[in-house]
Amino acid sequence: NSVTKPPPTPSPLRNSKFFQSNMRILVTGGAGFIGSHLVDKLMQNEKNEVIVADNYFTGSKDNLRKWIGHPRFELIRHDVTEPLLIEVDQIYHLACPASPIFYKYNPVKTIKTNVIGTLNMLGLAKRVGARILLTSTSEVYGDPLVHPQEESYWGNVNPIGVRSCYDEGKRVAETLMFDYHRQHGIEIRIARIFNTYGPRMNIDDGRVVSNFIAQAIRGESLTVQAPGTQTRSFCYVSDMVDGLVRLMEGDNTGPINIGNPGEFTMLELAETVKELINPKVEISMVENTPDDPRQRKPDITKAKELLGWEPNVKLREGLPLMEEDFRLRLGVAKN
Ligand code: NAD
Ligand code: UDP
Ligand code: UDP
Repeated sequence: NSVTKPPPTPSPLRNSKFFQSNMRILVTGGAGFIGSHLVDKLMQNEKNEVIVADNYFTGSKDNLRKWIGHPRFELIRHDVTEPLLIEVDQIYHLACPASPIFYKYNPVKTIKTNVIGTLNMLGLAKRVGARILLTSTSEVYGDPLVHPQEESYWGNVNPIGVRSCYDEGKRVAETLMFDYHRQHGIEIRIARIFNTYGPRMNIDDGRVVSNFIAQAIRGESLTVQAPGTQTRSFCYVSDMVDGLVRLMEGDNTGPINIGNPGEFTMLELAETVKELINPKVEISMVENTPDDPRQRKPDITKAKELLGWEPNVKLREGLPLMEEDFRLRLGVAKN
């Protein structure tokens, strides 16, 4: 038959300035520590519209207060374990508690967030054709038997331990990302984030840098968990979000390590915080938690080669910036 359809009527929104060139970006977990810094960076580009979906488990509206009410910004109270029906071009999927005390608090919920939450965001990416970036973690390497960790290392993870909800949850999330990529052609990006620090970290979230800085400011002793020779490599948050955006905008799926290769023992970290923030505080040794990885340091060869990225902020430069923010929030001025 010869019925010809009339061409679709152009939407009256076609001439609006948003319709033409804006990139609409979803940031899940955008009210959290890294997410809110990422939002600050994305909002600097006037072509970006940013939507944050967050359930405020560990994040807060306060982290985003400068954007609330901005015409290119939208904040949704949403739990990623429930389906989300919106239209976006890119998804930065960060939603997940990151600090051990929070992710162990309700481990079943942590697994649901990692598995069902990531599945939902992949379903969304598939429906609307969006590119999706997952913030995975160095914890996928577990207690690593290879040092420093490169992306090809498969890891040494306890599947039934108290950290497994997070480690194994992220490992399944990575698997889902690759299966959606292979099976449905979704454009994926996977960042393996190593310990990150900076302003807006939760003051009482139990992570080592936030603990030591808060303790030093309050004049309490710095609690090094035994043996104190375990190592971590700390990346300042501005370097981190720069790496995430480069990964999203580049051509490589990853996984790519994003972290600062400067490696410190927890005792060295305590000494540094003491020296920079409060030379009067004591350092005390306390009991550790199970399955604590003994050493961790990223091999960032891939990030350098494929993204042209490497961190710029040294620990001694980043700690004072974080101290300033913690002093404001704790209401304790430097004397
Ligand atoms: P964060 O706890 O500050 O932020 C996580 C955000 O996700 C919070 O705003 C929280 O409310 C939200 N959230 C949690 N569960 C949710 C759910 N079910 N639905 C909707 N929102 C939910 O942590 P962060 O340090 O900013 O970490 C962000 C991401 O980076 C996480 O995916 C984490 O696994 C990853 N990561 C962080 C580090 C680090 O050192 N900070 C290291 C490795 C990986
Ligand atoms: N989903 C979502 N938003 C969408 C599309 C899908 O949250 O825009 C969820 C959907 O509820 C499902 C998951 O993503 O639970 C996976 O979707 P997919 O279409 O891949 O699988 P199916 O729905 O066929 O199981
Ligand atoms: N840690 C510490 N004192 C604290 C909190 C943590 O010595 O008050 C140690 C902990 O044992 C671990 C390291 O610091 O070896 C990093 O712990 P965190 O919880 O910050 O991050 P993750 O274990 O996830 O790397």
